[in-house]
Amino acid sequence: MTEEKSLNFIEEIIEEDLKNGVHKKIKTRFPPEPNGYLHIGHAKSIVLNFGLGLKYGGTTNLRFDDTNPVTEDVEYVDSIKEDIRWLGYQWADEFYASDYFETLYEYAVTLIKKGLAYVDDSTSEKIAEEKGTPTTPGKESEFRNRSVEENLTLFAQMREGKFKDGEKVLRAKIDMASPNMHMRDPVMYRIKHAHHHRTGDKWCIYPMYDFAHGQSDSIENITHSICTLEFVPHRPLYDWFIEQLDIFPSHQYEFARLNMTYTVMSKRRLMQLVNQGYVSGWDDPRMPTISGLRRKGYTPSSIRTFCDKIGVAKRENMIDISLLEFCVREELNQTAPRVMAVLDPVKLIIDNYDSDTSEYMETENYPNQPENTRKVSFSNTLWIERSDFMEEPVKKWFRLAPGATVRLKSAYIIKCESFDKDAAGNITEIHATYIPEGKSGNDTSGIKVKGTIHWVDAKNAQVAEVRLYDLLFTTENPAAEENFLEHVNPESLIVKQAYVEKGTSANPGDHYQFVRNGYFCVDKDSGDTLVFNRTTTLKEGFKPGQKK
Ligand code: ATP
Ligand code: MG
Repeated sequence: MTEEKSLNFIEEIIEEDLKNGVHKKIKTRFPPEPNGYLHIGHAKSIVLNFGLGLKYGGTTNLRFDDTNPVTEDVEYVDSIKEDIRWLGYQWADEFYASDYFETLYEYAVTLIKKGLAYVDDSTSEKIAEEKGTPTTPGKESEFRNRSVEENLTLFAQMREGKFKDGEKVLRAKIDMASPNMHMRDPVMYRIKHAHHHRTGDKWCIYPMYDFAHGQSDSIENITHSICTLEFVPHRPLYDWFIEQLDIFPSHQYEFARLNMTYTVMSKRRLMQLVNQGYVSGWDDPRMPTISGLRRKGYTPSSIRTFCDKIGVAKRENMIDISLLEFCVREELNQTAPRVMAVLDPVKLIIDNYDSDTSEYMETENYPNQPENTRKVSFSNTLWIERSDFMEEPVKKWFRLAPGATVRLKSAYIIKCESFDKDAAGNITEIHATYIPEGKSGNDTSGIKVKGTIHWVDAKNAQVAEVRLYDLLFTTENPAAEENFLEHVNPESLIVKQAYVEKGTSANPGDHYQFVRNGYFCVDKDSGDTLVFNRTTTLKEGFKPGQKK
């Protein structure tokens, strides 16, 4: 029996609207500003918007909110499209707010003609000062009562480039005493002599978010325009423009943005991490970007599962990053084939195994799939993990120690006979003998061993660079710190030289479980030397500062 999932509040609204015939078909949109790469917070919005379109037989547009020419770039447009597709979604139409600049200009003219917009020559400081405060009413601008004709002429001249940046703005004429600050004659257009990545130098006036967003929704006949909670106070203005222009009545609905522990989630901060070299780029696997998560080994479905699990709320909260890790771990546990890799190698020599021979051991690719096996080469010289040997074993130590027996996974039982050390006291080599009757799958030795360790045949190994990632920050909410950059985890990346079974494929993105070591995937930096990124540990890890 599958558990019936209750509807979230937006689904409830949509079902009601469909039932009452308010809309026959729903239409949503995802409206990124192309000024950075998408992050996991955007994934939540993508899964929600596209998910609703799919669930209710509607459609979802991709609309680039490119009204700010200074910060936008084609590189970002391309990466955003790649990330949405990778997450598994296809938009109905691809639009740009800049496609609507002409229409928006005409809308502005309509409002001027209705006496609902005016050109203001005040400086931005003066405008801010006259805005008042939430508890005191604002003051009307001295330019507020210009005639319609004068406003039309001045607005046309603004467009023609007659004025410098900041000399004039176009404002909506609403109510300087409104308790809602956004309704106090908000700025609709500003002058900016800047090159736009799509419209070039055609425009030198650009619409503000509030005048572009709702109108773009309306032009596209978006039925449910979903955004994050900080836009709640903008909603009356959203509705006001649509009402005064008498255009398609799109409606805005707000949900809580995703906040996650041990990370930052604003493009501005992520950009600082990139530009100041704290990470190698937007797709550094420590970044909460979609491209970073992809490179780290996250799958689209694990991210969608995460977004479903966190749900859609009306109140801000903080999601534990371990939930994201849990989602990918659960999935990879089912799907990632097992291989053996030794991350911190020490040599193990089996003295009674013929040094000229080698053999192949059969081992499972997945637990509980005895038929699904591969052959792994075995010889008298193996790599094992340094941490699997203890010179002076603690109590209940079931792994290797002088005189102790263990099973080599899918191979023989061995007994540790001796070990060598260098001058500094580091173990350099361990010697053991094997028990031929103790071969895995055909064990007639009668010996009971409590520990099993993994290994790689040193005579037939692939060298690999393994990148072990940890949380990028040492504090739970870095954005709340005075300078979040001071809280970057200095151990967020540890690189190891490792040995992996020969034959482990090298296609970037291939996933593996390194037995006893965690989930890994092949990095695009792989060349002659394979490079693996640790996607996540086998079990939930400890957080910095937490007691082990
Ligand atoms: P940032 O603050 O990271 O720069 P933004 O809101 O400015 O983000 P946009 O490109 O404008 O980024 O966002 C596109 C869409 O993604 C918007 O609808 C926005 O509400 C949504 N979104 C952005 N961040 C989050 C988040 N953390 N959780 C949920 N939705 C988000
Ligand atoms: Mg934004």
